[in-house]
Amino acid sequence: MTIRSIISIMRAHTQNEGAGATVHRTVGARGLMNLDPFLLLDEFELKAGKGGFPNHPHRGFETVTYMLQGAIEHKDNKGNQGIIRAGDAQWMTAGRGLIHSEMPKSTNGETVHGLQLWVNLPAANKMDAPRYQDVVASDLPQVTEKGFTVKVLSGTYAGQTGPVSGLVLQPQYLDIRAESDSLFEHTLPTYHQAFIYVLTGSVRIGKSEGLARDLLILSEGDTVSLNARAGTRFILVSAAKTEEPVARYGPFVMNTRAEIEQAITDYNSGRF
Ligand code: MN
Repeated sequence: MTIRSIISIMRAHTQNEGAGATVHRTVGARGLMNLDPFLLLDEFELKAGKGGFPNHPHRGFETVTYMLQGAIEHKDNKGNQGIIRAGDAQWMTAGRGLIHSEMPKSTNGETVHGLQLWVNLPAANKMDAPRYQDVVASDLPQVTEKGFTVKVLSGTYAGQTGPVSGLVLQPQYLDIRAESDSLFEHTLPTYHQAFIYVLTGSVRIGKSEGLARDLLILSEGDTVSLNARAGTRFILVSAAKTEEPVARYGPFVMNTRAEIEQAITDYNSGRF
Protein backbone atom coordinates (compact mmCIF):
# COMPACT_ATOMS: atom_id res chain seq x y z
CA MET A 1 0.00 0.00 0.00
CA THR A 2 1.31 3.44 -0.97
CA ILE A 3 -0.41 6.33 0.76
CA ARG A 4 -0.84 9.44 -1.35
CA SER A 5 0.77 12.47 0.28
CA ILE A 6 0.10 16.13 -0.42
CA ILE A 7 2.45 17.53 -3.09
CA SER A 8 1.19 21.05 -2.58
CA ILE A 9 -1.73 23.06 -1.25
CA MET A 10 -3.03 25.94 -3.34
CA ARG A 11 -5.38 28.56 -2.00
CA ALA A 12 -8.09 29.60 -4.51
CA HIS A 13 -7.55 32.85 -6.37
CA THR A 14 -10.71 35.00 -6.27
CA GLN A 15 -11.46 36.86 -9.48
CA ASN A 16 -14.27 38.31 -11.60
CA GLU A 17 -15.37 36.20 -14.53
CA GLY A 18 -18.14 36.19 -17.14
CA ALA A 19 -20.48 39.11 -16.49
CA GLY A 20 -20.65 39.96 -12.79
CA ALA A 21 -19.71 36.50 -11.57
CA THR A 22 -17.13 35.78 -8.89
CA VAL A 23 -15.02 32.65 -9.13
CA HIS A 24 -12.57 31.11 -6.68
CA ARG A 25 -10.13 29.44 -9.08
CA THR A 26 -7.46 26.88 -8.35
CA VAL A 27 -6.72 24.72 -11.39
CA GLY A 28 -6.46 27.14 -14.33
CA ALA A 29 -5.23 30.02 -12.16
CA ARG A 30 -1.76 31.51 -12.44
CA GLY A 31 0.79 28.96 -11.28
CA LEU A 32 -1.37 25.95 -12.11
CA MET A 33 -2.61 26.21 -15.68
CA ASN A 34 -2.91 22.47 -16.07
CA LEU A 35 -3.17 19.52 -13.70
CA ASP A 36 -3.33 16.85 -16.40
CA PRO A 37 -6.10 16.04 -17.33
CA PHE A 38 -7.80 18.84 -15.35
CA LEU A 39 -7.80 22.28 -16.96
CA LEU A 40 -9.86 24.40 -14.62
CA LEU A 41 -11.63 24.25 -11.26
CA ASP A 42 -13.89 27.14 -10.27
CA GLU A 43 -16.05 27.52 -7.20
CA PHE A 44 -18.48 30.14 -8.53
CA GLU A 45 -20.92 32.52 -6.90
CA LEU A 46 -23.63 34.35 -8.80
CA LYS A 47 -26.49 36.63 -7.83
CA ALA A 48 -29.76 36.29 -9.75
CA GLY A 49 -30.20 39.24 -12.08
CA LYS A 50 -26.65 40.43 -11.45
CA GLY A 51 -24.56 38.38 -13.77
CA GLY A 52 -23.57 35.00 -15.05
CA PHE A 53 -21.83 33.50 -18.02
CA PRO A 54 -23.44 34.82 -21.23
CA ASN A 55 -22.85 33.15 -24.62
CA HIS A 56 -19.37 31.65 -24.98
CA PRO A 57 -17.89 28.69 -26.91
CA HIS A 58 -16.06 25.53 -25.80
CA ARG A 59 -14.05 23.00 -27.80
CA GLY A 60 -11.82 20.06 -26.96
CA PHE A 61 -12.79 19.10 -23.38
CA GLU A 62 -15.64 18.41 -20.96
CA THR A 63 -17.21 20.69 -18.37
CA VAL A 64 -18.67 19.32 -15.15
CA THR A 65 -21.05 21.61 -13.31
CA TYR A 66 -22.14 20.60 -9.81
CA MET A 67 -24.60 22.87 -8.05
CA LEU A 68 -24.29 23.46 -4.31
CA GLN A 69 -27.01 26.09 -3.87
CA GLY A 70 -29.55 27.79 -6.15
CA ALA A 71 -29.90 27.00 -9.84
CA ILE A 72 -28.48 27.93 -13.21
CA GLU A 73 -30.10 27.74 -16.62
CA HIS A 74 -28.06 26.65 -19.63
CA LYS A 75 -28.94 27.16 -23.29
CA ASP A 76 -26.84 26.27 -26.30
CA ASN A 77 -26.85 26.98 -30.02
CA LYS A 78 -28.02 23.42 -30.81
CA GLY A 79 -31.36 23.98 -29.08
CA ASN A 80 -30.41 22.25 -25.82
CA GLN A 81 -31.46 23.89 -22.60
CA GLY A 82 -32.20 23.01 -19.03
CA ILE A 83 -31.96 24.01 -15.40
CA ILE A 84 -29.33 22.61 -13.04
CA ARG A 85 -30.58 22.83 -9.45
CA ALA A 86 -28.90 22.42 -6.08
CA GLY A 87 -27.51 18.89 -5.81
CA ASP A 88 -27.77 18.29 -9.58
CA ALA A 89 -24.83 17.89 -11.92
CA GLN A 90 -24.26 18.29 -15.61
CA TRP A 91 -21.44 16.56 -17.45
CA MET A 92 -21.08 18.31 -20.80
CA THR A 93 -18.79 16.89 -23.47
CA ALA A 94 -18.07 19.96 -25.60
CA GLY A 95 -16.14 17.89 -28.13
CA ARG A 96 -15.91 19.67 -31.48
CA GLY A 97 -17.76 22.64 -30.11
CA LEU A 98 -20.84 24.49 -29.02
CA ILE A 99 -21.81 27.96 -27.85
CA HIS A 100 -23.81 28.27 -24.67
CA SER A 101 -24.82 30.49 -21.77
CA GLU A 102 -24.97 29.62 -18.07
CA MET A 103 -27.08 32.10 -16.12
CA PRO A 104 -28.46 32.19 -12.57
CA LYS A 105 -32.03 31.01 -12.25
CA SER A 106 -33.25 31.73 -8.77
CA THR A 107 -36.49 33.15 -7.56
CA ASN A 108 -35.71 34.38 -4.08
CA GLY A 109 -32.47 36.28 -4.65
CA GLU A 110 -30.35 33.62 -3.01
CA THR A 111 -26.72 33.22 -3.99
CA VAL A 112 -26.16 30.68 -6.73
CA HIS A 113 -23.18 28.59 -5.73
CA GLY A 114 -21.50 25.72 -7.50
CA LEU A 115 -18.41 24.07 -8.89
CA GLN A 116 -17.23 23.82 -12.45
CA LEU A 117 -14.44 21.47 -13.45
CA TRP A 118 -12.94 21.16 -16.94
CA VAL A 119 -11.64 17.72 -17.88
CA ASN A 120 -9.46 17.45 -20.96
CA LEU A 121 -10.28 15.06 -23.79
CA PRO A 122 -7.55 12.99 -25.44
CA ALA A 123 -6.66 13.97 -29.03
CA ALA A 124 -8.75 11.12 -30.44
CA ASN A 125 -11.91 12.49 -28.78
CA LYS A 126 -11.53 16.26 -29.04
CA MET A 127 -13.73 16.46 -32.12
CA ASP A 128 -16.45 14.08 -30.86
CA ALA A 129 -20.05 15.24 -31.16
CA PRO A 130 -21.17 17.33 -28.16
CA ARG A 131 -23.30 15.54 -25.58
CA TYR A 132 -24.87 16.19 -22.20
CA GLN A 133 -25.36 13.93 -19.23
CA ASP A 134 -27.77 15.63 -16.85
CA VAL A 135 -27.94 14.18 -13.39
CA VAL A 136 -30.61 15.12 -10.88
CA ALA A 137 -29.71 14.97 -7.20
CA SER A 138 -31.85 11.88 -6.60
CA ASP A 139 -29.87 9.96 -9.28
CA LEU A 140 -26.64 10.20 -7.30
CA PRO A 141 -25.84 7.05 -5.32
CA GLN A 142 -25.01 7.83 -1.71
CA VAL A 143 -22.95 5.70 0.63
CA THR A 144 -22.85 6.34 4.38
CA GLU A 145 -20.17 4.48 6.32
CA LYS A 146 -17.34 5.05 8.79
CA GLY A 147 -18.42 8.59 9.62
CA PHE A 148 -18.74 9.80 6.03
CA THR A 149 -21.48 10.30 3.48
CA VAL A 150 -20.19 9.96 -0.06
CA LYS A 151 -22.14 10.97 -3.18
CA VAL A 152 -20.89 9.43 -6.41
CA LEU A 153 -21.12 11.57 -9.57
CA SER A 154 -18.87 9.35 -11.66
CA GLY A 155 -16.73 6.30 -11.12
CA THR A 156 -17.35 3.66 -8.46
CA TYR A 157 -17.19 3.94 -4.68
CA ALA A 158 -18.02 1.07 -2.30
CA GLY A 159 -19.76 -0.80 -5.11
CA GLN A 160 -21.92 2.19 -6.10
CA THR A 161 -21.34 3.56 -9.61
CA GLY A 162 -22.21 7.13 -10.50
CA PRO A 163 -24.70 7.81 -13.31
CA VAL A 164 -22.25 9.59 -15.65
CA SER A 165 -21.00 7.03 -18.15
CA GLY A 166 -18.82 6.50 -21.20
CA LEU A 167 -16.03 8.81 -20.06
CA VAL A 168 -12.72 8.32 -21.82
CA LEU A 169 -10.35 9.11 -18.94
CA GLN A 170 -12.39 7.24 -16.29
CA PRO A 171 -12.73 10.23 -13.98
CA GLN A 172 -14.02 9.57 -10.51
CA TYR A 173 -15.85 12.48 -8.86
CA LEU A 174 -16.92 12.09 -5.22
CA ASP A 175 -18.66 14.60 -2.94
CA ILE A 176 -17.71 13.69 0.63
CA ARG A 177 -19.03 14.92 3.98
CA ALA A 178 -17.65 14.00 7.38
CA GLU A 179 -20.47 13.44 9.86
CA SER A 180 -17.97 13.14 12.73
CA ASP A 181 -14.18 13.47 13.17
CA SER A 182 -13.18 10.48 11.03
CA LEU A 183 -10.53 8.68 9.03
CA PHE A 184 -11.33 8.27 5.32
CA GLU A 185 -9.53 5.66 3.25
CA HIS A 186 -10.07 4.99 -0.42
CA THR A 187 -8.20 3.10 -3.12
CA LEU A 188 -7.47 4.74 -6.49
CA PRO A 189 -5.47 3.66 -9.54
CA THR A 190 -1.84 4.42 -8.62
CA TYR A 191 -0.98 6.67 -11.58
CA HIS A 192 -4.25 8.59 -11.86
CA GLN A 193 -4.05 12.30 -11.15
CA ALA A 194 -5.98 13.07 -7.97
CA PHE A 195 -6.92 16.18 -6.02
CA ILE A 196 -9.08 17.27 -3.10
CA TYR A 197 -10.88 20.60 -2.99
CA VAL A 198 -12.18 21.62 0.43
CA LEU A 199 -15.57 23.36 0.58
CA THR A 200 -15.93 23.60 4.36
CA GLY A 201 -13.99 22.39 7.38
CA SER A 202 -10.55 20.82 7.23
CA VAL A 203 -8.80 17.84 5.72
CA ARG A 204 -5.51 16.57 7.14
CA ILE A 205 -3.04 14.22 5.45
CA GLY A 206 0.10 13.57 7.47
CA LYS A 207 1.21 16.91 8.89
CA SER A 208 -0.50 19.03 6.20
CA GLU A 209 -3.98 20.48 6.58
CA GLY A 210 -6.24 21.97 3.91
CA LEU A 211 -9.03 24.41 4.74
CA ALA A 212 -12.00 25.79 2.79
CA ARG A 213 -11.02 26.89 -0.76
CA ASP A 214 -7.76 24.96 -0.66
CA LEU A 215 -6.80 22.58 -3.45
CA LEU A 216 -4.74 19.62 -2.26
CA ILE A 217 -2.70 18.05 -5.05
CA LEU A 218 -1.97 14.44 -4.22
CA SER A 219 1.08 12.37 -5.08
CA GLU A 220 0.81 9.07 -6.94
CA GLY A 221 -0.09 6.05 -4.86
CA ASP A 222 -2.88 3.54 -4.46
CA THR A 223 -4.52 4.82 -1.28
CA VAL A 224 -5.99 8.12 -0.13
CA SER A 225 -5.94 8.27 3.66
CA LEU A 226 -7.05 11.44 5.43
CA ASN A 227 -8.59 12.78 8.59
CA ALA A 228 -11.53 15.16 8.42
CA ARG A 229 -13.24 17.15 11.13
CA ALA A 230 -16.99 16.80 11.69
CA GLY A 231 -18.85 19.02 9.23
CA THR A 232 -16.08 18.99 6.63
CA ARG A 233 -17.15 18.78 2.99
CA PHE A 234 -14.77 18.22 0.11
CA ILE A 235 -14.60 16.73 -3.35
CA LEU A 236 -12.10 14.03 -4.32
CA VAL A 237 -11.56 13.84 -8.06
CA SER A 238 -9.21 11.61 -10.02
CA ALA A 239 -8.65 10.55 -13.63
CA ALA A 240 -6.08 9.06 -15.99
CA LYS A 241 -3.67 11.62 -17.43
CA THR A 242 -3.70 12.39 -21.16
CA GLU A 243 0.10 12.88 -21.26
CA GLU A 244 -0.43 14.92 -24.44
CA PRO A 245 0.64 18.48 -25.30
CA VAL A 246 -1.88 21.16 -24.33
CA ALA A 247 -2.50 24.17 -26.57
CA ARG A 248 -4.95 26.53 -24.90
CA TYR A 249 -6.67 29.71 -25.88
CA GLY A 250 -9.48 30.67 -23.49
CA PRO A 251 -12.33 28.18 -23.98
CA PHE A 252 -10.52 26.19 -26.69
CA VAL A 253 -8.14 23.45 -25.54
CA MET A 254 -6.42 21.43 -28.23
CA ASN A 255 -3.03 19.76 -28.75
CA THR A 256 -1.36 22.12 -31.23
CA ARG A 257 -1.29 25.81 -32.09
CA ALA A 258 -2.64 24.99 -35.58
CA GLU A 259 -5.70 23.29 -34.04
CA ILE A 260 -6.32 26.39 -31.91
CA GLU A 261 -6.15 28.59 -35.00
CA GLN A 262 -8.61 26.21 -36.71
CA ALA A 263 -10.95 26.48 -33.69
CA ILE A 264 -10.86 30.29 -33.87
CA THR A 265 -11.52 30.18 -37.63
CA ASP A 266 -14.39 27.71 -37.19
CA TYR A 267 -15.91 29.79 -34.40
CA ASN A 268 -15.63 33.07 -36.31
CA SER A 269 -17.17 31.56 -39.41
CA GLY A 270 -20.17 30.11 -37.57
CA ARG A 271 -19.14 26.44 -37.72
CA PHE A 272 -19.82 25.81 -34.01
MN1 MN B 1 -19.40 27.23 -20.34
